[in-house]
Amino acid sequence: MNTRNRQYWESKLSGLTIEGRAYIDGSFVPATSGKTYQCTNPATGRVLGSIAECDVSDVNLAVIAARRAFNSGSWSRISPTARKKVLLKLADLLEANLEELALLESVDMGKPVAVAFEYEMPDLVEYVRWFAEAIDKLYDEVAPTEAGNLALIRREAVGVVAAVVPWNFPLDMAIWKCIPALAAGNSIVLKPAEQSPLTAIKLAELTAQAGIPSGVFNVVTGFGESVGQPLGLHMDVDCLAFTGSTEVGKLFLGYAAQSNMKLVWLECGGKSPNIVFADTEDLDAAAEQAARVFYNQGQICSSPTRLLVEASIKDDFLKRVVEHSKAYAPGNPLDPDVRMGSMADARHTENVMRFIETGMKEARLVTGGRRTTIGDSNNFIEPTIFDNVEQGHVVGREEIFGPVLSVFTFETEEEAIAMANDSIYGLMASVFTSNLGRAHRMSDALRAGTVVVNAVDLISPLVPFGGFKQSGNGRDNSLHAFEKYTALKTTWIKY
Ligand code: NAP
Ligand code: MG
Repeated sequence: MNTRNRQYWESKLSGLTIEGRAYIDGSFVPATSGKTYQCTNPATGRVLGSIAECDVSDVNLAVIAARRAFNSGSWSRISPTARKKVLLKLADLLEANLEELALLESVDMGKPVAVAFEYEMPDLVEYVRWFAEAIDKLYDEVAPTEAGNLALIRREAVGVVAAVVPWNFPLDMAIWKCIPALAAGNSIVLKPAEQSPLTAIKLAELTAQAGIPSGVFNVVTGFGESVGQPLGLHMDVDCLAFTGSTEVGKLFLGYAAQSNMKLVWLECGGKSPNIVFADTEDLDAAAEQAARVFYNQGQICSSPTRLLVEASIKDDFLKRVVEHSKAYAPGNPLDPDVRMGSMADARHTENVMRFIETGMKEARLVTGGRRTTIGDSNNFIEPTIFDNVEQGHVVGREEIFGPVLSVFTFETEEEAIAMANDSIYGLMASVFTSNLGRAHRMSDALRAGTVVVNAVDLISPLVPFGGFKQSGNGRDNSLHAFEKYTALKTTWIKY
């Protein structure tokens, strides 16, 4: 048996011990209240383990530990090269634990284990290596002053960084926030989503093995109101990095205003346009890309959820997209051939189904639309496509965060631009065309943090990721990520 075999993963799961405690100041600890909640596998309904249900007192302990560690200099003041070595060791440990991490991610939030094991987790290992290698290659600045004056402009760690992350890519989002912040010398308090804490807890174990000193990396598990809010309101947290919904992102701006004006970096929702012109060279390849909207059960902030197709090719193109959507038939996430797993939990499944019911009244259902049962769970939804969607429709406007594609038709480039930009979001946009001038015109005109030509949703540690408008502020990934976790300091020296 090997990783291409469902029984392999099932037997690995039955041998797994689930750690559900928080990680504070170098130790796994229960919540001070003693409370726990149950973590379930949405693809089976079975309980995986008990998770510490932390509250404000645990948050306080974690922030105190993080501050003490930061002030001690055990991490913040060692050389960047020394931090690099520890983070490279962490990458090796992640790599040595790929199977367990992929399995935990799959059973915690429903994603296909093979997708996690073969693509997402290996990419994360490289992500950690990239940031580790970057940190001792960054030089600061000297200002062009006159003789007798030396002005140094340096970046220093902000201090205690809290990261609050969602359940759609639990370990990715934790690593996107924590690794650049750690590399820069900060201490961290990470709050995973209540639905998907398991890989964050595992990450804590591996940071200790890698040699990150006690107190530098903490994980506080629990709910948004009892852990996320106290972190947002904390007077001794210097920076709050968030990925999640626009609604909750706005709350964090309020928490900062009510407390200590901490830095708040937000990666929030999206409703990304994917614009397909009739001059596209390979329509079938474009249709295959358009169907990637169903990747991760459609639970991706940057998914190309609004498909805008030029009228002259619309019927042909839509047929091809429907054909490619069949590759995403829902199935058991532990089956390595399955590309579409279960939704993250029952409540989210119901939310998405409500959107689908609304869509059926507003637009024309082309394929899918049903909730399905696989094994003991009915948290599965078919890839769903609506045609004849209009700008005013709920399914054309709101972030659904499920396997739902809304199809629009346009006649001219100007009309496509106007439709694409008519959204409160601006995270990602795609354009398919073989006209180079048009590709550049579209890239200039589209209000989005990333514009992709002839593909969808390209993400890499090499380039910034983040949004315009209500998709948020600041950027994850690339050297620009360090801007979030460092502050500029000027030192004048008269001589
Ligand atoms: P969410 O409800 O906003 O939750 C995100 C995080 O915030 C969770 O850890 C959550 O804790 C916490 N939280 C919830 N209510 C809170 C409150 N009142 N105060 C403080 N913290 C609170 O988002 P989600 O449903 O987990 O994730 C889906 C959303 O994330 C979508 O809107 C998606 O677009 C967005 N997303 C954006 C990006 C991006 O990079 N732009 C990437 C991925 C996802 P609990 O889990 O305990 O509720
Ligand atoms: Mg879970």
